[in-house]
Amino acid sequence: MIQIKDFKNHEGQTIETQGWLTNKRSGKGLEFIILRDGSGFAQCIVDAESVPNDVFETAKRLSQESSIKLEGKVVKDEKQIGGYELHVTNLELIGTSVDYPITNKEHGIEFLMDKRHLWLRSKRQWAILKIRNRIIFAINNFFQKEGFVQTDSPIFTGNAAEGSTTLFSSKYYDQDAYLAQTGQLYGEAMAMAMGKIYTFGPTFRAEKSKTRRHLSEFWMIEPEMAFYNNDMNMDLIEKFLKYVVTDVLDNCKNELEILERDTTVFEALKAKPFPRLTYDKAVEIIKGEKEVNGKTSIQLLNEDLENVKAKIAENKKGIEEREKEIAGGVKKGKRNFLQAKIDQLKQEINKLEEAERNIPKWLESAKNFKYGNDFGGSDETVITRMFDTPVMVYNWPHEIKAFYMKRDADNPEMAKGVDVLAPEGYGEIVGGGERETNLELLISKIEEHKLPMSEFEWYLDLRKYGSVPHAGFGLGLERTVAWICGTQHIRETIPFPRYYGRLRP
Ligand code: ATP
Ligand code: MG
Repeated sequence: MIQIKDFKNHEGQTIETQGWLTNKRSGKGLEFIILRDGSGFAQCIVDAESVPNDVFETAKRLSQESSIKLEGKVVKDEKQIGGYELHVTNLELIGTSVDYPITNKEHGIEFLMDKRHLWLRSKRQWAILKIRNRIIFAINNFFQKEGFVQTDSPIFTGNAAEGSTTLFSSKYYDQDAYLAQTGQLYGEAMAMAMGKIYTFGPTFRAEKSKTRRHLSEFWMIEPEMAFYNNDMNMDLIEKFLKYVVTDVLDNCKNELEILERDTTVFEALKAKPFPRLTYDKAVEIIKGEKEVNGKTSIQLLNEDLENVKAKIAENKKGIEEREKEIAGGVKKGKRNFLQAKIDQLKQEINKLEEAERNIPKWLESAKNFKYGNDFGGSDETVITRMFDTPVMVYNWPHEIKAFYMKRDADNPEMAKGVDVLAPEGYGEIVGGGERETNLELLISKIEEHKLPMSEFEWYLDLRKYGSVPHAGFGLGLERTVAWICGTQHIRETIPFPRYYGRLRP
């Protein structure tokens, strides 16, 4: 049995292959089947002249998502998806598929989510999951090459690490337990044993709001390094993100093309250092008090708004012209061509109009940003708009960061945290920092956050027995997949997403 991805090694040969019919059209005495087998997609041509009668009849009756076994000759054809097609000599039905619910017409997102177990078979979802797979592979490669040890942190925990508002509670026999929001604290213990470690596991946060960036169950990569300060941490994050992006660009060209992902931003990112801004400087940029490349955020957003408006007008004109042409009477082929372009322009207008509504809101909230607050989604969008690579923001007001973050000795109001914001509106993908080593300060922080001291005895031990400077970070896998794939919403980046309001399938 030959997989579609290996057709290229069998040019001119008669082979057997198997998969599912994802699409089919019929010509005179010909059936054109698009086959998918998980490794790729290929056109398979069944010619009435080249197969027995009953086989051609079977081919004619095949419906979407029937599973089939095929025999045929591999022929090179660069115009076809994958570059090779199969000239079928025999075909066998494995499993029928009656009334497959997901067709080529537009379906609403709720419908598709209800049918997620089937939706995963579509080309776009396939491409996203392939890229997710590659990202996971690249992450492991990177850390293994850098001498990190992969260790695992528990999922059942007795305490909250990231604040109690987003805790999922559970039962652990007769004790109360919580699902891990992060592996961070355990990671620190393991770094003291192994030097440089990373955990890669599921984390759970009850995020009771519907945003396009929050899941209730997501996967996080959390490296933790003994003898690292926050500068070394930022160096590592930058090297790591560049490695992952480069690896995906090199190995997922086809998938990125299927997703129509514009990869210019990734090309730019490979060559440039990521800007590193203190929180204070980032706030000035957001509020429009500081220029980047000769422009303030307010100027740039106003320009964006003008451009969006002009583009909407241009698209509307383009639609009008084509509609006029159709009304004037054209041949069917030409009409379909014009109509397809009209539909495309309309879709673009929808997106542009969303931007037209959003930009004034971003402008408002940017101007009114209050020093000391955490960045909201729109603030992140504004700041990343100013650069074409991810941006690192460090030295945050300690009050809005987790209790374990190290206070800056020169500036005690600040903690040595770092957030990495991805461009194009994707926002925070990494949160990390240097960890507090001062035992008294840690104890007072735990009290201030009203966390139960008894649950942290073991954690405080790490500061009593050979405490060393250390740092680490957490990268959200799905946010990274969303950014690299360019998906609108994080829910498409994991096979079976869990988010507020969705537990099934
Ligand atoms: P946000 O402010 O966007 O909610 P956070 O500050 O809570 O993020 P951290 O606690 O720093 O995030 O978690 C580290 C990383 O985990 C984030 O940078 C992000 O990539 C990812 N992450 C956090 N919460 C979620 C979530 N609900 N769904 C998906 N990924 C998440
Ligand atoms: Mg959060």
